[in-house]
Amino acid sequence: MALTWIRTHDWDAGTWRNRSACRDTDPELFFPIGATGTALDQISAAKSICAQCTVTRECLEFALATNQEAGVWGATTEEERRKLRKSWLADEQAAAG
Ligand code: SF4
Repeated sequence: MALTWIRTHDWDAGTWRNRSACRDTDPELFFPIGATGTALDQISAAKSICAQCTVTRECLEFALATNQEAGVWGATTEEERRKLRKSWLADEQAAAG
């Protein structure tokens, strides 16, 4: 997945949470337990909500910057973020020069 980061270093500012598509949904949907059976259905449902969200990039960058280990953030699972975080950290270090 090729991503262009926001890189404002201000990922927690503003009102992006107020614009989240998941704001009025059941939080448990975004924090499934495990990665099999019902949890897979929850992950799929959560990601379909993320697909409608206008602040996916802000949400994902926040999750990477604050190392959110659990749940679906920015249309990614914890496993997907673990893989993304390495390249995100490398990009952060490169941007810092
Ligand atoms: S990207 Fe997904 S988890 Fe993040 S705010 Fe939007 S709907 Fe919620």
